[in-house]
Amino acid sequence: MSMVDGKIFVLGLDCAPPKILYNDLRGELENIESLMTYKYELPSTHPPITIPAWISMATGKTPGELGLYGFRHRRLGSYNEMYIANSRMVRARTVWDVMGRQGKRSIVVGVPPTYPPKPIRGWMITDFITPGPDKNYTWPPNLKREVENLLGHPYIFDVEFRSHDKEKIKRGLWRMTEAQFKVLEHLVKTREWDFLFYVLIGTDRAHHAFWKFYDPDHPKYPGPNKYEDVIPEYYRLVDKLLGDLLQHVPRGTEFIVVSDHGAKPMKGAFAVNQWLMEEELLHLKKKPDKPGADLRPDMIDWEKTKAWGWGGYYARIFLNVKGREPNGVIDPEEYEGFIEDLKKKIKEIRGPNGERWETKVYTPRELYPITNGDPPDLMVYFDDLYWRSAGTIGWPSMYLEENDRGPDDAVHDWIGIFATTIKHHRRPANVTEVFTKGVALLTNTG
Ligand SMILES: [Zn+2]
Repeated sequence: MSMVDGKIFVLGLDCAPPKILYNDLRGELENIESLMTYKYELPSTHPPITIPAWISMATGKTPGELGLYGFRHRRLGSYNEMYIANSRMVRARTVWDVMGRQGKRSIVVGVPPTYPPKPIRGWMITDFITPGPDKNYTWPPNLKREVENLLGHPYIFDVEFRSHDKEKIKRGLWRMTEAQFKVLEHLVKTREWDFLFYVLIGTDRAHHAFWKFYDPDHPKYPGPNKYEDVIPEYYRLVDKLLGDLLQHVPRGTEFIVVSDHGAKPMKGAFAVNQWLMEEELLHLKKKPDKPGADLRPDMIDWEKTKAWGWGGYYARIFLNVKGREPNGVIDPEEYEGFIEDLKKKIKEIRGPNGERWETKVYTPRELYPITNGDPPDLMVYFDDLYWRSAGTIGWPSMYLEENDRGPDDAVHDWIGIFATTIKHHRRPANVTEVFTKGVALLTNTG
């Protein structure tokens, strides 16, 4: 395979599904489309979540090898120790590390998780997990002041999107996106760069906040409404800002447009811990004091409890194993049998009207050749992700119409996009292969 000689620009659109870019808005986004000579659907990682998907793409490692199974992790063998993913957990070499070793300079903006920033041959601005603009969020560290002088205000990493105030979300999205493109344009104009990797989180936020107003297939689509065009308008904004940015990108640059997963309508949230209680696998010492209470470790009667779960776009289930958890009850010899029985029961869960669900249940070892870090015992996609998981308890029903973490209209879907102008590409089989296989040529290893 021949190498790409010129610059490479990777535009990451978080959560962008083929439906929007290849179908609904086809012909409307001239700048984005000019970068999509070859278009494919791209399967995400297990789980199809922002962390680990982008960093799996950037390293070519599976989530199991990275030890990243989502945003939050439970320390194995503990009831209450948890941590949020960050860049320190990423020990594998990233595509920009590889480029750097070849003497190439990278601009990396918004790739999750890159906070806290690590040294890079080039320039980095960290991602939406950055706790706030008071932290150090750039490499080199003095780039931060330059960014803030340029903007006249602190950098914007994310918008609060799980809110009923849709006007505020919209304003926040526009403001964040304009600020991020302004910074990108400045970097593109003032630096000698070879590789640019930008991830826009705004597309994900727009989908979560506005999908039900946009998609007539959403169970709560209200009919024609004042927010039905927010998602298309947002993509048009991105297309316009991209057009302005491309004025400053040299001719001969090659492009990749890629997403980490897709999106589809959310049908509801399933209260996984209430289900485990009904199955008598989870026992409380006292009843929750209000509907939708968080399940805290001190509420659980551990001497009787065999399993508990976490909420999210997918459910993580943990088992209370003798010799592993402090008050474990499942004999290690019974572990495999217990897992098999529980998987079967979970797959038999039906929807609120008795309808069949396409629930998928896996042990991490079934999904990944290596499982580093703190994997859960089971990973569950209720009704193939249409139902998210709610970890809270005390609800009148196990079937919740809304996300227990605030309004949310979309869930993640398996299929994202991969498109490129690079003639000598190979079709990546999934997110993990985008750089290692699909465009191995750009790192001179193809
Ligand atoms: Zn994402």
